[in-house]
Amino acid sequence: MQNAGIARRVEWLKKSLKRCVLCPRMCRADRIAGKKGFCRLAAGMVISSAIPHHGEEPPLSGSRGAGTIFFSSCNVKCIYCQNYQISHTPTGRPITVEELAGIMLELQALGCHNVEPVTPTPHLPGIMEALGIARERGLRLPFVFNCGGYERAKILRLIDGMVDIYLPDFKYGLDEAGKSFSGVPDYPRHALASLREMVRQVGDVLDMEDGVARRGILVRHLVLPGRTDNSLAALEMIRDVSPFIPLSLMSQYTPTPAVRRHPLLGRRVTRDEYEQVVNAALDLGFEELYTQEVDDRALNPDFDREEPFAWGGTGGRDDA
Ligand code: SF4
Repeated sequence: MQNAGIARRVEWLKKSLKRCVLCPRMCRADRIAGKKGFCRLAAGMVISSAIPHHGEEPPLSGSRGAGTIFFSSCNVKCIYCQNYQISHTPTGRPITVEELAGIMLELQALGCHNVEPVTPTPHLPGIMEALGIARERGLRLPFVFNCGGYERAKILRLIDGMVDIYLPDFKYGLDEAGKSFSGVPDYPRHALASLREMVRQVGDVLDMEDGVARRGILVRHLVLPGRTDNSLAALEMIRDVSPFIPLSLMSQYTPTPAVRRHPLLGRRVTRDEYEQVVNAALDLGFEELYTQEVDDRALNPDFDREEPFAWGGTGGRDDA
């Protein structure tokens, strides 16, 4: 039986779609009536794919893969988004709450180490309802909340007790970078408040069992070309919450067609830029770092393929 308090909070989340304030964009769109806000999603959930994913950080992918469910559309929509094929449009396969609960159980049956919805924020009410149903039917895997970091701490408080592992991005430490690249003037403020709430709920470390994560937090930061100033500002904000937070510093940025001619975003990150950010993280006292090689491999997924991550492997992420 689902805890009554949790069931009440899920009901509140479902009703909130009448005037959607699930994320800091605060569109107040009546999604139940079919109106759409910035994410262009009505009330129903839409997914792109659900797969055992071997390209996450080692504690999440383990040996059998993360149970990743790629949701369509996003509440941030960065102009350089590496998943732009699915994040910039709401196209995909519409699914019901019952179907999603079934998908979670299928991922468990496939041997995945966790269930990991990607960009859950605009779909939150349906995902949390499905999670409750799947738990009642035997889902035992950790639930991973893999989000863009542009969250409302108040909404996260409503899912306290349901999330085992938070996997947020912390994209920007500078307001101007968030405005330029994602059209949000207040990313750092919301990302910081959300991070504090996530740490309050699950702690500031990653608890492991048999080599895979069971509970805790892992923060991701994608280093952008020509913007190490933004990266360093982001690292300082994360460190102010706790230097014990495990940090994944990603070098894999690859220009998408939309930004190939952008004066900054039209190239890969250089080794010097990436090392500057990694060294800054070490100087700030971060102890658990996941890093990547800087090389020419194109690591962008292709969601037109049945297997979007055809390059396989671990995405070059290592435990530093
Ligand atoms: S989830 Fe979508 S509709 Fe709701 S506030 Fe965010 S962008 Fe707007």
